[in-house]
Amino acid sequence: MGKQTDFRYNTGETRVPWAAVGENYNVHDLMEVIRFLMQGEGAEYDAALEAVWQQVKKLEPLATPPGKLSLGSKVEAAEAACNEYLGTTTSTFVTNATAGFEIAYKYANLKAGDEVIVPAITFVATMAYPLAVGAKLVFADVDPVTINMDPADVARKITDKTKMIVPVHIGGYPVDMDPIMKLAKEHDIIVLEDAAHAFGAMYKGKKVGTIGDFAAFSMHEVKNITSFGEGGILTTTVPGFGDEMKRARFLGMDFTCPIKDWLYNITPVQGKEAPFVPGNASTTEIQGLGLTLQISRNEEIIEKRRKAAKYLTDRFAENDAIIPQDLGNEDIKPTFHLYLLQIDPAKAGGDIQVLKKKLDEKGVTQIAHFGPLYRFKIVQDMGYDSDEIAKSCPNCEEVFYKRFTHLPVYGLSDEQLEYMADAVLASVAEMQAGK
Ligand SMILES: *Cc1c(COP(=O)(O)O)cnc(C)c1O
Repeated sequence: MGKQTDFRYNTGETRVPWAAVGENYNVHDLMEVIRFLMQGEGAEYDAALEAVWQQVKKLEPLATPPGKLSLGSKVEAAEAACNEYLGTTTSTFVTNATAGFEIAYKYANLKAGDEVIVPAITFVATMAYPLAVGAKLVFADVDPVTINMDPADVARKITDKTKMIVPVHIGGYPVDMDPIMKLAKEHDIIVLEDAAHAFGAMYKGKKVGTIGDFAAFSMHEVKNITSFGEGGILTTTVPGFGDEMKRARFLGMDFTCPIKDWLYNITPVQGKEAPFVPGNASTTEIQGLGLTLQISRNEEIIEKRRKAAKYLTDRFAENDAIIPQDLGNEDIKPTFHLYLLQIDPAKAGGDIQVLKKKLDEKGVTQIAHFGPLYRFKIVQDMGYDSDEIAKSCPNCEEVFYKRFTHLPVYGLSDEQLEYMADAVLASVAEMQAGK
């Protein structure tokens, strides 16, 4: 058995190395990267950039290009940093959370006829693979306070066809995992945590994303931390599957048991019931570097967000028509990816649509993002009856149309944060006064 190897630079010392290598980057390209990541204009900016260029171009005769641009030591370093941060050993860096979900769904051998329970309110990514393979989506109603999947409704909707439950820690607020894990155990169901918003959240002393059978975090540019715009971390607690996930990420490529006279083999990845054929969710060294750089700041980022959330929650205490974001406790530590603002329409004298309009007018833009998945045309076109499903998700209908919106809590100045709190309080007061 040869040592584990790769396409690039695997020949060692030789006169003419065999290497399938693409075009390298040069100093001009590097300058464009700097110009892209550090944008600006004006004479001072131009002068500073020119000074950088004078130095950067000196690198050309001195520097060599990296040996690898994909799935190399930087990706491994990012995974090691995630492992240390999460307290797991299985972090696998994939193109995005959606690609991570796909590996978990394939592991479960999800196919037409199987049922998957997802929360009624989440992002389309949660249900994309089940929809694609024709599995049946079963929408669990949400808890009216957290807007996370309600375990009691999950219990009601389990059948003997339920293969997976996919709790989503929406906004970075941990789902109540204990009852879900208990149900899953009783019914032999695989739990996939959609932890897209929840890198660093804690549930009863455990990092979110290390509780279910699988979890995927997102490092897309809009999440708390990013790996240059796209990225995802997949973890598993399935014994023995952690190493297999590396091959599940890259087409089943197997360098440990090559075919005679061939560099590698393609071997099936063993899922729970059956072997499966993986796709390609490989990540780049640049993404690996980007993720490692940001992980070290994650606690700081969460703390900044928590402070902003606490400020808003404290301010909103003055009006009991406002149901502020829960800030957590010893057992529940959110990431505060989004601030969940709710109102009680009876006390506020109007619903959230009225409030959103008023906030818009005051310059606090409100964009509906996470809503009932069963309202999408793609779901309806696949034969789902939106109105029937809505009847089985009364909390979802009520909170989405009448009660909640999300406020931003990062990157705002103190002044903006204060203005936003003032705008919410003033708008609700106007509604109460019948204006
Ligand atoms: C962003 C998001 C995803 C998808 O993450 P990607 O990394 O972009 O694939 C999944 N679920 C939720 C709830 C999200 O907000």
